[in-house]
Amino acid sequence: VTTYRGATVAVFGLGGSGLATCAALAAGGARVVAWDDSPASLAKAEAAGHETADLRHIDWSGIAALVLAPGVPLTHPAPHWSVGLARANGVEVLGDIELFCRERRATAPRSPFVAITGTNGKSTTTALITHILAETGRDPQMGGNIGTAVLSLAPPAAGHSHVVECSSFQIDLTPSIDPLVGICLNVTPDHLDRHGTLDLYAAVKERLVAGVQPGGTAILGIDDRHCQAMADRAERAGHRTVRISIRNPVADGLCLDGADILRMEAGAVVRRFSIAAAGALRGTHNAQNAMAAYAACEALGLTHDAIVRAMLTFPGLAHRMEQVGRIGRVLFVNDSKATNADSAEKALAAFSDVYWIAGGTPKEGGIAPLARFFPRIRKTYLIGKSAEDFAKTLGAHPHVIAGTLDKAVALAAADAAAEGAADPVVLLSPACASYDQFPNFEVRGTAFRDLVLAMPGVVKV
Ligand code: ADP
Repeated sequence: VTTYRGATVAVFGLGGSGLATCAALAAGGARVVAWDDSPASLAKAEAAGHETADLRHIDWSGIAALVLAPGVPLTHPAPHWSVGLARANGVEVLGDIELFCRERRATAPRSPFVAITGTNGKSTTTALITHILAETGRDPQMGGNIGTAVLSLAPPAAGHSHVVECSSFQIDLTPSIDPLVGICLNVTPDHLDRHGTLDLYAAVKERLVAGVQPGGTAILGIDDRHCQAMADRAERAGHRTVRISIRNPVADGLCLDGADILRMEAGAVVRRFSIAAAGALRGTHNAQNAMAAYAACEALGLTHDAIVRAMLTFPGLAHRMEQVGRIGRVLFVNDSKATNADSAEKALAAFSDVYWIAGGTPKEGGIAPLARFFPRIRKTYLIGKSAEDFAKTLGAHPHVIAGTLDKAVALAAADAAAEGAADPVVLLSPACASYDQFPNFEVRGTAFRDLVLAMPGVVKV
């Protein structure tokens, strides 16, 4: 990031994106003053050679900007103290995606930049667009809320397309967000703890589509009233606007006809296609994601045939309900990303004969919120630190303390093969963080995948 050369920038919150911000600013010739309330994070910044200082005690008059991690409250219920200090001193408060946008405008204003938001489906849509661009020979960079910090990606000046997933927290910190293609999939109640009301939350998300560059495209799922109103305003503002609906017909945009997706223009069907053969895009909610991805890739100049062909080979998101393989009738599913009970619930709800591998570093409440699913689980294989605790919560429901992932996979696979259930699924959906046994959920999921694919008779799906 060269836009702060010679200036001093304060960075608060030193997780992955904070550290990437420090590195990018320093590489671009800025002086960085970093801080985090956690000593472990501070140590990481220091190890990377960054200057650290408690921002409560620095001279703010020399600070050009405060870059905030997206998890730090900007507005609700009360701004973080660092935001108060910055504002009191007339210092602007930004996120890393804002730095990315400024850098892109300064160095490669014509580079393709797709930004995706919505309450649900962001990651799927982001990964799907990235997959289609990769399959068609572009060299996309994917980041933001989906994992890699935007400032860790190859820069726009290197000629890449950027596909960036944005949470509402991140949009809040990106005042000049200006995608070439802006997508808002849907707005439903979520994260209201930070944004207060659904109207405020929707208004934050709308900034992503309202910010679309001249000549760009706004893509809106219009199945909720907020996004519908956003589409009308985007159109009035002169943006090319593509409406998508999985509920109703649309005159210009994409909608469903049974299992087919229709591309409509001026009330006429101009294209019809099916994604039924794309295993990773099952379900009507995924039709919404696929429509958004189609419209985005079309806006980037890809042909209909190329888009649809690439969609059919979308492997789905790694570590989230990822179908790894089958042995006989037994399906193995990697849902390592489910690090809390809420996400594990979605996985458990999707299957009926579950051999469930769970446990790790527990979150508050453990698996107690999942109790209504226990009767549907054939057996639970407990791993990690939480094993004893979870065993107590499971009580009389069949379970075994396997301890490690390799033992759990072996035991679950053997039981699932022997019992002859109708639709047996060995599911890693831990409802826990991984830190007791793995560096992160990705390593845990990869370990599961490797264990499954090493078993005799396995067929990849
Ligand atoms: P996000 O990144 O917004 O959390 P994901 O693409 O990771 O969304 O999907 C998370 C879960 O949300 C999926 O497992 C699925 O159950 C549900 N989901 C995905 N897409 C949609 C959608 N368009 N509308 C509603 N729910 C969805």
